[in-house]
Amino acid sequence: MATAPKSTPAANAAPHRRPARDVVDYELLFDCVHCGLCLESCPTYVVTRAEMDSPRGRIYLMKALAEGALELDADALRHLDLCLECRGCETACPSGVRYGKLIERAREYVNRNVRRPPLERLRNRLIAGIFPYPERLKILLAPLRAIDRLGMRPLMRKLAPAGMRDWLDLIPPRAAPQPILAPTSAADESAPGAVVHHGCVARTLLDAENRNTEGALAAAGYRVVPMERTVCCGALDLHHGNFDRAREFARANVRELGRHGDAAILSAASGCSAVFAAYGDLLAGEPEYADAARAVSARVADLSTLLLGRNFRLSRRFPATVTYHDSCHLAHGLGVREAPRRLLRSIPGVELVEMNESDLCCGSAGSYNLTERAMARELVGRKADNIVATGADYVVLGNPGCELQIAAELRRRGEKIRVMHLADFLALALSGAGA
Ligand code: SF4
Ligand code: SF4
Repeated sequence: MATAPKSTPAANAAPHRRPARDVVDYELLFDCVHCGLCLESCPTYVVTRAEMDSPRGRIYLMKALAEGALELDADALRHLDLCLECRGCETACPSGVRYGKLIERAREYVNRNVRRPPLERLRNRLIAGIFPYPERLKILLAPLRAIDRLGMRPLMRKLAPAGMRDWLDLIPPRAAPQPILAPTSAADESAPGAVVHHGCVARTLLDAENRNTEGALAAAGYRVVPMERTVCCGALDLHHGNFDRAREFARANVRELGRHGDAAILSAASGCSAVFAAYGDLLAGEPEYADAARAVSARVADLSTLLLGRNFRLSRRFPATVTYHDSCHLAHGLGVREAPRRLLRSIPGVELVEMNESDLCCGSAGSYNLTERAMARELVGRKADNIVATGADYVVLGNPGCELQIAAELRRRGEKIRVMHLADFLALALSGAGA
């Protein structure tokens, strides 16, 4: 019988086994040194206290799957599905683990290899077939708007099954008109440009955020450049492991955004902005798009940083107690935490009160609150407790998904605290209407 060759120093230096399956970017797994410093930043771990619902546990799981030491059974699938892709673990990790990239690829593997039960497939098809298309979403919402006009939402909610009730709660009732920052006179050609992607769900349910983002940029002296054609950023598809369609959307956006010179690119939805920032990676393997995609990613900016960069100031006093929620993809994806706070503190009369766990996910996470209702409710309950404890009149944030999720929970509790996108809050403060 042949004996195994003695290992040489070179062999010892070879860091890893060969992966048996194409589950993740295998080499990236080895950045994790299993220190566990990310655990308390992980919303699912904080709730379940189960190692396999932590970033470290999921990294073990992905490695075992890749090496063929584990089958993708119902248990493994559950732990992967429960991840919010909030990237809180990336912020906490001292070793620079690119967890977001790992879980996206793992979801693609799941998508390729798991046949979901029929009802889940139907639900996922509905989400994928409707949410990236504002016109379809509007048609879906039309009956609900009619029910709202008749004042029958409470009755409908009462009769709806529990699962449907949570979906219904997310859709804001028709509210009083809110202040809109009218675009100021066009800035001259030498002014720095900014292009605002209007998103899909935001455009349908919370379009004031787009208009107020553009209005605030114009007020700060930016030349706001309209997009000719807006398609979904691809976030939903990335969350669901559907890379093919995510790349289709990315190509369309790169073609459109590439037409606007060096104008800064942003969205009222920080989740979309974080996806634009990842286009360079997503299209890196496509020679026709790689350079343009990298250039688009390099132009991604956020509203508060752009406004502070132009010394945007509100002179009107707006007395209000405000707390700030860190939307995951703004804080953990783009690393923007201090700029929105600085902007809020600069408004005369505003008192900014920090909430506990301001950067712990609210459970919205793309379509997570539609697919993982129990965990999403647990997390938004925790978020609402932390908000209420501040005694604030307003919760300000930078992502429409968080707005819908947190506002739904506060409405369920009968709380009067207003949940507002930063751009809408600036418009309100400038108008003085809520003071
Ligand atoms: S992901 Fe980072 S923080 Fe978490 S266990 Fe691995 S090395 Fe430690
Ligand atoms: S992305 Fe969020 S939910 Fe997923 S492992 Fe990291 S911290 Fe936990």
